[in-house]
Amino acid sequence: MRIALQSVSKTFETFRAVRDVSLEIESGRLVALLGPSGSGKTTILRMVAGLEFPDAGRIFFGEEDATDIAIRDRGVGFVFQHYALFPHMTLAENIAFGMEAKGKRSKADIRERAAELLRLVKLDGLGARYPNQISGGQRQRVALARALAVEPRVLLLDEPFGALDAAVRRDLRRWLRELHEDMPITTLFVTHDQEEALDLADEVVILDGGRIVQRGTPEEVTRRPATRFVMGFLGDTNRFAAEVRGGEARVGALVWPAPGLGDGPADLFARPRDLVWSAAGLGIPATILRVLERPDSRRLVVGAPDGTMAELDAPLDQPVAKGDIGSLTATRAQVFAAP
Ligand code: ADP
Ligand code: MG
Repeated sequence: MRIALQSVSKTFETFRAVRDVSLEIESGRLVALLGPSGSGKTTILRMVAGLEFPDAGRIFFGEEDATDIAIRDRGVGFVFQHYALFPHMTLAENIAFGMEAKGKRSKADIRERAAELLRLVKLDGLGARYPNQISGGQRQRVALARALAVEPRVLLLDEPFGALDAAVRRDLRRWLRELHEDMPITTLFVTHDQEEALDLADEVVILDGGRIVQRGTPEEVTRRPATRFVMGFLGDTNRFAAEVRGGEARVGALVWPAPGLGDGPADLFARPRDLVWSAAGLGIPATILRVLERPDSRRLVVGAPDGTMAELDAPLDQPVAKGDIGSLTATRAQVFAAP
């Protein structure tokens, strides 16, 4: 089911939590809404679900205007970060709950379907257990099975792995991606975790202050960030004050193309893996302040004459020492006009 938001806004009292968001999600896609806390992700999800109603704009499910349709008639499955399974019900009963409420299936049919869903979320044979007898990761899988039980047209996941530890999150991420390939339900996945969004989604929608600042494939948003916010939000980056003249940005002796930017001050951003240290040669003059050994790399902390500090990853076989004087060049960088 394709979902489309058209200029959707939401104000709480006087606070505009969502500002003019337009977004189209093709049928069968897994799209991540990624942004810092407070950027409006949950509010958007709740409006798609029908738990919250926009004060401007429309929401379409396929051709149908769903803006004013109540949650129970929208055909959405929902999983939250703290999805409280019913503690007094077994896992099978939890999964069966929605199907029973709908009253369309026979008891035997529901039992069979619940067992099938437990197999799907790799909890085969655990139907008689209670939620407090399984791990947090397993509980979120049951919550997903419960959301899928009613055969939703759309799946909405709000930081479903947010409360779990890092290793479990990574496993669940891989598992959810595989499940989605087998059963491609249109899915909106909310997270503030960049890596989670980039690993999981076909497409990432980046939000800041209730607005969409960029959307694209993981490759597009990481390699071609549209703004300095996206550049900084998606990963470690270094910033250097630059001067643009004739479509080129200069930092010391480093020159980088800046097509379309007017003459004047700007900033050049480069990620640690995209800076290169050399003992001789032209670039941004710098001094090595610290050498940090990491399991799979060597991180240099360097200082430029104007006091700018930067970090870069140096090859393990490059001779470097604290106090060395040299220069920085870049293999990849982005220039943004001064704010
Ligand atoms: P996110 O999920 O990205 O962290 P939310 O959508 O939950 O962000 O919230 C966006 C903004 O709207 C926040 O500043 C939050 O405080 C505010 N907000 C959300 N829900 C309400 C509400 N029911 N009443 C008042 N303010 C709210
Ligand atoms: Mg939220």
